[in-house]
Amino acid sequence: MKRQRAYHLPMERVLHIVGGGLAGCEAAWQAAKRDIPVVLHEMRPVRATPAHHTSGLAELVCSNSLRNDDLGSGIGLLHEEMRRCDSLILSVADAVKVPAGGALAVDREAFSAAVEKRLLALPNLTLLREEVTALPDGPAIVSSGPLTSDTLAAELAHATGSDHLHFFDAIAPIVTLDSVDFSKAWFQSRWDKGTGKDYINCPMSKDEYFAFVEALIAADTVEFHDWEKNTPYFEGCLPIEVMARRGAQTLAFGPMKPVGLTNPHGPNPKSYAVIQLRQDNALGTLFNMVGFQTKLKHGEQMRLFRTIPGLENAEFARLGGLHRNTFLCSPVVLDASLRLKAKPNIRMAGQITGCEGYCESAAIGLLAGRFWAEEMAGQAPNPPPLETALGALLNHITTGAGAETFQPMNINFGLFPPLPPPEGKRRKLGAKERRAAYAERALGKLGEWINLDCRNLEDQERWERYQLSGEFTSHQSVMNLLEGVVGKDNEKG
Ligand SMILES: Cc1cc2nc3c(=O)[nH]c(=O)nc-3n(C[C@H](O)[C@H](O)[C@H](O)COP(=O)(O)OP(=O)(O)OC[C@H]3O[C@@H](n4cnc5c(N)ncnc54)[C@H](O)[C@@H]3O)c2cc1C
Repeated sequence: MKRQRAYHLPMERVLHIVGGGLAGCEAAWQAAKRDIPVVLHEMRPVRATPAHHTSGLAELVCSNSLRNDDLGSGIGLLHEEMRRCDSLILSVADAVKVPAGGALAVDREAFSAAVEKRLLALPNLTLLREEVTALPDGPAIVSSGPLTSDTLAAELAHATGSDHLHFFDAIAPIVTLDSVDFSKAWFQSRWDKGTGKDYINCPMSKDEYFAFVEALIAADTVEFHDWEKNTPYFEGCLPIEVMARRGAQTLAFGPMKPVGLTNPHGPNPKSYAVIQLRQDNALGTLFNMVGFQTKLKHGEQMRLFRTIPGLENAEFARLGGLHRNTFLCSPVVLDASLRLKAKPNIRMAGQITGCEGYCESAAIGLLAGRFWAEEMAGQAPNPPPLETALGALLNHITTGAGAETFQPMNINFGLFPPLPPPEGKRRKLGAKERRAAYAERALGKLGEWINLDCRNLEDQERWERYQLSGEFTSHQSVMNLLEGVVGKDNEKG
């Protein structure tokens, strides 16, 4: 084990990172390569989790795939942005990838070993194998993952309020607005409450309803892992297939009740059942299927939910699920730079912030590491633009998502600000063109953000060199020096 100078520095000069998973390793890399002394705490092998099998850092607990590597997908774009931000996780993944068609899949043992080796080669990083049981007092990142140890989870619940820390996700599918067919669906709130148009409604006739219930009962579900078998079903959010099994009319009197709604498309204005979708993000691009949390297999969900009138061509930003998963209600408890509002010396990162997936977890780690490095160097944290995958994901978990329906989320184009209407073209962009346009806009904005960051770093380095050389005499002389840097950049630009 490496022990080093980090311990002899004042508390506020050392960054402690709790959890050496995907997020913690990326955060440690980003901060340490910006010269911040880092102590990384990983509890394995001293204390195990129910899903990890090794003591290696950045262990991939299940699939060995980091998913689609194509720029035309939200995750492929996130990969590329992370590469351009010198991500440790992406650079190691590229180095140890195995053939997997369009996906980025890796040799999981080589992956974990290489992440650990590259981190331990950093002179200002210390790895401690110990369980952290209390929230640190100095600058820290908590990236302890979906299987955070019980003691630390209790500490987090105490700091944030137990209502804001969840131990299971009960996920209802989310559909992108522009994939709904409004020749069948319509906007209306039940009894015209609120604005009168708060929900999207998808109607079903009696025959359609009973066929749907029958198909639900027959569909394949995902089994719980052994260690999840005691997953409680809360009566308030039972999986729809469980409700369907309780009686053929249960859904018609529950989440699919048609009362207070009038179908403007006719011919029968009173539907037998209605599926409602509620706005899920501030941008108004995503809608969740109300009460449709489910354990159905993903393929079954797509097959079945596309039989719902109005959702035949639905694009799913997220599919339903129910898992053991520790996560915070981030839109309530975090600020825009991932700090706990109740304890701002702590930034949160990874799956525990309510993002979902290996790369999304690492991406939030990347941002948390950069934000601390900036702040510990006396600068304000510089968040990525909203139009980038990094910015869209950060915005969703910190402010964009609805707090009441907040559940873990993968990156997807539904999280991005909508594209402006195509110039000089009358027709709407096709799905492929739209994705390419999102990616092009994102990478352009990312480039500007990275250049700005480089300039800040350059300023900082020159400032420090100047102080060390003893030339530092007055505020004005330093300003002259920095103006020189800015002037030089402008000439280049
Ligand atoms: C069973 C399961 C399967 C999954 N499968 C996939 C998949 O196939 N693909 C995918 O993209 N995503 C998957 N996920 C979701 C998610 O991407 C992973 O959990 C991912 O590893 C999250 O990264 P993380 O860094 O947030 O957490 P982790 O990678 O879990 O890292 C957290 C680390 O913190 C450590 N730790 C916990 N408590 C403490 C403490 N008190 N002190 C010190 N260390 C502590 C843990 O030992 C762990 O090493 C899965 C999740 C689970 C639970």
